[in-house]
Amino acid sequence: MGEMRDRFWERPLAELSPEEWEALCDGCGRCCLHKIEDEDTGEIADTNVACRLLDCETAQCSDYRNRKSFVPDCLRLTLKIVDSVEWLPRTCAYRVRAEGRPLPDWHYLISGDRQAVVRAGVSVSGRVISETRAGPLEHHIVEWDDEEADGI
Ligand code: SF4
Repeated sequence: MGEMRDRFWERPLAELSPEEWEALCDGCGRCCLHKIEDEDTGEIADTNVACRLLDCETAQCSDYRNRKSFVPDCLRLTLKIVDSVEWLPRTCAYRVRAEGRPLPDWHYLISGDRQAVVRAGVSVSGRVISETRAGPLEHHIVEWDDEEADGI
């Protein structure tokens, strides 16, 4: 892994190196959940159904490096699209920085603790079901409490 600059997360997204970009993710797992788009209104509903590769207990991808081979439509968040992915949670570190907000205290880059995202109620760890077991997505519509996460 390349060198990461001191407090790189305070720099504009456009200045981040590939390693710094990767390291910005807080590991919440929200982008690994299925969404349902209303055909008529375009409105997007969240579900608690996870991609088959997500470890539902830790909220981490079980094969991040090879994920595209197994799940070709896995979203690869880049600088070009970060502003246009409307369903990114308000807490997502990429969205936070794209909007010029500081990372919250629970982000591991600030707290030094990877589990702080779980305690803050932001991680999906232990709160989701795999698509391999879930059945119809319509039975799993949820609302995540983005607004209640500390520091957001
Ligand atoms: S929603 Fe954002 S911060 Fe959370 S896992 Fe996905 S990319 Fe990382």
